[in-house]
Amino acid sequence: MKKRFFPKGRQVDQDLSDQIADLLGNDIKRRDLLIENLHRVQDHFGCLSKDHIAALADVMKLTQAQVYEVASFYAHFYIEGAPPADKHCTGLTCSLFGKGTGSGVPCVGRCDQAPVHMTKGATLPDYIPYEKYCYATLLAYKDQGEEILKQLDQANLRGLGGAGFRVADKWRFLLNAETTPVLVINADEGEPGTFKDRHCLETNPHKVIEGALIAAHVIGASDIYLYLRDEYGPIRQMLQAELPKITEAGDINIHLRRGAGAYICGEETALLESLEGKRGLPRIKPPYPAQAGLFGRPTLVNNVETLWRVQDILQNGPEAGSKRFYSLSGRINKPGVYEAPIDITAQELIEIFGGGMLAGHHFKAYLPGGASGGILPAHKANLPLSFGALEKHGCFIGSAAVIVLSDHDNIKSVVQNLMDFFNHESCGQCTPCRVGCEKLSHMLHSDLDQELAKEVCEVMQDSSICGLGQAAPNPLLTALTYFTEDF
Ligand code: SF4
Repeated sequence: MKKRFFPKGRQVDQDLSDQIADLLGNDIKRRDLLIENLHRVQDHFGCLSKDHIAALADVMKLTQAQVYEVASFYAHFYIEGAPPADKHCTGLTCSLFGKGTGSGVPCVGRCDQAPVHMTKGATLPDYIPYEKYCYATLLAYKDQGEEILKQLDQANLRGLGGAGFRVADKWRFLLNAETTPVLVINADEGEPGTFKDRHCLETNPHKVIEGALIAAHVIGASDIYLYLRDEYGPIRQMLQAELPKITEAGDINIHLRRGAGAYICGEETALLESLEGKRGLPRIKPPYPAQAGLFGRPTLVNNVETLWRVQDILQNGPEAGSKRFYSLSGRINKPGVYEAPIDITAQELIEIFGGGMLAGHHFKAYLPGGASGGILPAHKANLPLSFGALEKHGCFIGSAAVIVLSDHDNIKSVVQNLMDFFNHESCGQCTPCRVGCEKLSHMLHSDLDQELAKEVCEVMQDSSICGLGQAAPNPLLTALTYFTEDF
């Protein structure tokens, strides 16, 4: 090993540094490419040793601490060890069907195929390629920003990633920005039970991109960043081939960025930090992304399905906004992604689309909005799943990930699984969430002091910085309301 002499600290292997410089090529010093570069080094060398980190820091002119803190934050960087070849999903839906072999990883967004066991070599999706897709809606609405916003208002379109903010209003914040805005596509769906954005990208990716280009034209964005969760490797390969073909973008640059296994990066400000090559720590708001987002520029962040729906509404009229995709999984015969009215009930979803309960299972409970949306008993399955309808029952629809549970499932075990997930995924930045998730997880694995647990939940809800800590108590609180017999 040829070492360059530094008076103190970890030495840099000059040969390795040269190899990494060759591997990365141009733009290597850009700090925002640190996560991309970590992926390239790990993919090339099969691991990320401390020597790799020292050499990468040398090449990028960063401190070793800056590289190490980012590498160690993300679950998909394996420092001093090769990525496991044999993995199983520990998400709630998969856990219902038994324990898998190999290393356990958080929900991988394939709950319709539960239980999921991953080996290398996933196949590319069967999608509509650029050559068979027509960007007619983009051309038809060229320079018609006001008309587009009017149609989104008429359709009452709300963000479909979880927060449910009115889309046209969110776009309007950017209209008079002092500097050129940026558009970010949030394709980091990590809420356990959610896999509908995967469906959109796997079937018709250009519909999503067309929606994004329409949004970018309305707000005057110069760049689009698509942040894709790392678990969706085949989609990444497909987008790497498809995005360069898009010529309609004209003066809009489309950048594909790869996540690295952090649920918190689905939170929009954590995602922006990640896009800047940093740890995914949510930002304190204000300023909001529309004021100072990516690289300090005014930024619009929209979820994949939201942009799909934008294109749909402009092509087919405002009534297209009365539908959304539901990720349906659990103890049913036909799990999958289904497009249904926004006010459908869980009972109807199970009967019309899900093919009913599995043989030998009786409907006991359901999660309407994934891990953080709470748990409701079967006798509340006739509530509409629309925005705002579930809050008075302690739940919310969020990303519409409906997980169906049966009389074979103990609700305390379900909550354990979910709290373990939140404990694993908390970014650790604020004490209520970091300590609260850990404490609740421990308590759920022993005799639960219900009053103490409720106090911890209250502190988390009232004082956590972001939605993860604020919503993590929902499954426990609803379980203590509706399923006391399981505790
Ligand atoms: Fe991080 Fe949790 Fe605080 Fe959010 S609530 S900033 S995830 S510690």
